[in-house]
Amino acid sequence: MPYTASPLFIKGARVWNPDGDIHLPAVRDVLVAGTDIVSVTAPEESAIPPGAEVIDGRGKLLLPGFVNAHYHSYDALQKGLLEDMPFDVWALHSQPAYFGTRSKAELRARTLVGAIECLKHGITTVQDMSTLVPQDEEVLDTILAAYEEVGLRVVFSIAVRDQAALDIAPFLPADMPADVAALIAGSARDPVADLAFVEAQLRRLPATSRRHWALSASGPQRASRQLLEGVADLAARHRLPLTTHVYESKAQTAKAREIYGEQGGSMIRYMDEVGLLHGRTTIAHGVWLLPDEIDILAERGAGVAHNPISNLKLKNGIAPIRRLKAAGVNLALGCDNCSCSDCQSMFQAMKMFCLLASGTDPDPVGLHAADAIAAATLGGAYALKLENVVGAIVPGMRADLVLVDLTDIAFLPLNSVARQLVFSETGRAVQTVIVDGRVVLRGGKLTTLDEAAFAGELAEVMEAFHVDFAAAAVRNAPAIPYLLAATHRLAGQDVGLDRYLPGLHAG
Ligand SMILES: [Zn+2]
Repeated sequence: MPYTASPLFIKGARVWNPDGDIHLPAVRDVLVAGTDIVSVTAPEESAIPPGAEVIDGRGKLLLPGFVNAHYHSYDALQKGLLEDMPFDVWALHSQPAYFGTRSKAELRARTLVGAIECLKHGITTVQDMSTLVPQDEEVLDTILAAYEEVGLRVVFSIAVRDQAALDIAPFLPADMPADVAALIAGSARDPVADLAFVEAQLRRLPATSRRHWALSASGPQRASRQLLEGVADLAARHRLPLTTHVYESKAQTAKAREIYGEQGGSMIRYMDEVGLLHGRTTIAHGVWLLPDEIDILAERGAGVAHNPISNLKLKNGIAPIRRLKAAGVNLALGCDNCSCSDCQSMFQAMKMFCLLASGTDPDPVGLHAADAIAAATLGGAYALKLENVVGAIVPGMRADLVLVDLTDIAFLPLNSVARQLVFSETGRAVQTVIVDGRVVLRGGKLTTLDEAAFAGELAEVMEAFHVDFAAAAVRNAPAIPYLLAATHRLAGQDVGLDRYLPGLHAG
């Protein structure tokens, strides 16, 4: 029992069970010992073990902690700094390679900002697809230490790419000045060295109770075949989940049509060919998947991490969630970068999961609140190969649990826990959060960190950050008209499908 001196006895909460009454879940007592859920019992059948700490669950909902299946911690300090930017303009302002080396204090602060926001929204597991700048052990250790300190479960992946340039580069105007082209191009990397670094970290830092590994190519179009095959090989040899961005934007789709000619212009067929598509693969976004590509995903057992808020904020269109669900593809939910969703809230993501399809289809679409909750819990766990570890309140699984106050106005009157959790709750009613058997949030306050002291730390690093961000904005300004021209040209290009709402362009 690494965290609790005594067992936890959560008494009398309504306990979420997707196979039970989702509108008025049954009242149960839940016993936690060490890191695990030991029992879930009806009140008349349970007894408080001697020495247990009793947590009063009456009037509350006990949920499995949410799994944020797609996120990047590197730009958490950019929350609220950007808006109304198409994907590639945003990328120029947010990608860590454009900001160079950051201080250890800043690395720690930015990791904590995102992690704290996760915990306060009932997220107990996050998949952080991180780009390390510079790619060294000190940067990695600083980030992982922050997760360890705050107590959030992390599935960490080091995003690798060896090809320079924004996704939209092939569509930029030919008359672009050389200095602008150089700014957009970035620099290429050595795939052999990057793969060796990732594998060295897997060996140096074995998984712990709350820290897990995944593997990530940033995106197939940003990597050589050698790098992608290397990532697939690492995933196979270390039995790790694999996650990569796929078809997030129309530019990526148009580029796929150009560079994957042998695979009929299909990024999915290309991934299949290089061994990146299997039951441990989850693609992030998948907005521009074609119907037959969805069928391939389903056949291979690969899943999708849906990021509805960032897809909208970056003007990438609407993902085919109804079709993915119908095909039987595992669906997880992510909140994505803080610079393009501005909030690590599964409540926002779940609500949008249900509502977006209504913008494309006037009929009932069969995407209900319970489906959103499933994607935010077990779907995420499955995507990260933690389906036997987290995502459900079942004896033997880790105690990653969230108590939600059902007397909050979001739940008054209480008509349906499932629907009010998705459509009414904002995160305000999240009171207690337990990760790996340890209470990390109590009464809405962190137990692992002094929040006032952290606010001071954060204010200190923001001085230098704001100076550098402003300088980057000045540096980027000359590139924006060219990027917008490329985006505008792409809008008229036929890529075989459309993920924007037809008929609204003129509005
Ligand atoms: Zn992403």
